[in-house]
Amino acid sequence: LHEFSVMQSVVDAVLDAARSKAASKVLLVKLRVGELTFLNPEQLKFAFEVLTQGTIAEGAELIIERVKPKVKCIKCSYEGEIVYEGEEIHIPLAPLIIRCPKCGSYEVSLLAGRECTLSSIRVEVPRLKER
Ligand SMILES: [Zn+2]
Repeated sequence: LHEFSVMQSVVDAVLDAARSKAASKVLLVKLRVGELTFLNPEQLKFAFEVLTQGTIAEGAELIIERVKPKVKCIKCSYEGEIVYEGEEIHIPLAPLIIRCPKCGSYEVSLLAGRECTLSSIRVEVPRLKER
């Protein structure tokens, strides 16, 4: 499953960050996921639960923030969201054809929509080191 390999690197990054803060527990993980990554949020949550088992991130809350695709048109310099039919696109094998909603040009560059990044984590740090 694609979600598992993606989530594995997310979990690694979470645990690295938690260790660098000498955290004893990870409470919350926020993820920004572009809609064009074709990652299924339910599958991501499931992968997160499985992959954090036995780690300090076990039981942490996972919040997935969906990022709408954003383009910049090279022809008319339109910048903004793209419109596509349907609620979501889950056709990873279909070629990704993006058109400018303003002038219809195919010469667009993608500014957002393919990311899968950690936006924040909240951890619990043992109090003994305070002050
Ligand atoms: Zn355009």
